[in-house]
Amino acid sequence: MSTRPADSRIPRTDLALADPRLAAARRRLGDRIVKGAIHAVQATTWASGGPVDDFVGEVLSGLPEYATSLTPILNATGVLLHTNIGRAPLSAAAGEALTAAMGYADVEYDLLAGRRTGRGTAVRDELVRAVPPAQDALVVNNGAAALVLTAVALAPQREVVISRGEMVEIGGSFRIAEIIASTGAHVREVGSTNRTRLTDYRAAIGADTGFVLKVHPSNFSVHGFVSEVPVTQLATLPVPLVADVGSGLLGPDPALPHEPDASTWLSAGADLVIGSGDKLLGGPQSGIILGNSELIDKLRRHPMARAMRVGKLTLAALEATLSGPPPPIHEMLHCVPEVLRGRTQEFHQRLVEREIPARMIPSSGVVGGGSASAVRLPGWAIEIPLAFAKILRIGRPSVVGRIEGGQCLIDLRCVPTNQDPHLLEAIQSAANVIAASAGANTGEA
Ligand SMILES: *Cc1c(COP(=O)(O)O)cnc(C)c1O
Repeated sequence: MSTRPADSRIPRTDLALADPRLAAARRRLGDRIVKGAIHAVQATTWASGGPVDDFVGEVLSGLPEYATSLTPILNATGVLLHTNIGRAPLSAAAGEALTAAMGYADVEYDLLAGRRTGRGTAVRDELVRAVPPAQDALVVNNGAAALVLTAVALAPQREVVISRGEMVEIGGSFRIAEIIASTGAHVREVGSTNRTRLTDYRAAIGADTGFVLKVHPSNFSVHGFVSEVPVTQLATLPVPLVADVGSGLLGPDPALPHEPDASTWLSAGADLVIGSGDKLLGGPQSGIILGNSELIDKLRRHPMARAMRVGKLTLAALEATLSGPPPPIHEMLHCVPEVLRGRTQEFHQRLVEREIPARMIPSSGVVGGGSASAVRLPGWAIEIPLAFAKILRIGRPSVVGRIEGGQCLIDLRCVPTNQDPHLLEAIQSAANVIAASAGANTGEA
């Protein structure tokens, strides 16, 4: 602690903490966070040298909203899935399921029989229902964990055959081949960056082969003199075929005609399909493995499965995502362009009425987050000056726009419609901050 001399303007921490106006905040956030806010106001009071009218009032206004530093964001980027801002937003049904599961819950307990049961059977049933060609399903911590589990269980010290055209690097500078290699399996590369044929796979397969891994290049596309081997042909090889769809799409989606999905790839002959739960599936972070029941059983019984199992919160949110109403990501992907246009026009009008410099422009949404990299979703955005961007980000609610061409773009596609008034207020507050600092700079008020 500091060695400042006593200052009559600054209440002692223990006395401030005992103020009845802070009692509710102490119950909600805990003493450490409230003390942190007290120390911050003590420090600014000390530094300012001025009087404090309402010390506790200032502490209250400096308190964080939650006992977590994670800040909810209004995503005005027009990018549906971005790993940096938490990928898929959960549905309200999934949010309620999280709350329901937060206390004790029958996560692996049969209430009728009063004894232990398997974990995650309801989610497994939902997945198998949603993906008819899958005999069984297993959920692990994330897509990368699903790859690791598959490699340790199906190719221990053996070879995993991957096309050189599918040596994908996913977010956070992790490479799929390196993830596989980290398990002790040997990555056997076949073909070239742009072309791989069935004969390349055939020549590489032997007694050492654990499985062939097909990886959907989910975050890039290669054009020109290219060819890859489709799942139907890979399925004719005499070894298991594991296919990583990336996005977690369970069935075909007409909005994304080139995005592979679990049902189609399993029907085409893949033995296992792997995907993420928090991309196009629209659920919580998780890794989903679907397909052949013998192989899934092998994965489920492997000791590593225990180290990758998901908790009750993931199970609750994932089950609600699968059984409940379509998650927000679905609506954002399929939103009718005319509806989005009308909403954007209306929003633009509100800004104009408030004399905030804004221009409506055509602007495409993108799926992002390692899915449908080439797809552009036709839409609109509102262009406001770049100076707004940072003020909006650090405001409450925090608003993240897209910076493009030296402007800040506000795209409503991924903003829940009921948040439009809050977004409008956030932009108004930012405009006020900008006006005040411009006033200060020119010596006005
Ligand atoms: C996103 C992705 C992964 C990794 O999944 P996480 O859930 O982020 O671990 C693996 N493979 C592909 C093709 C992906 O797109």
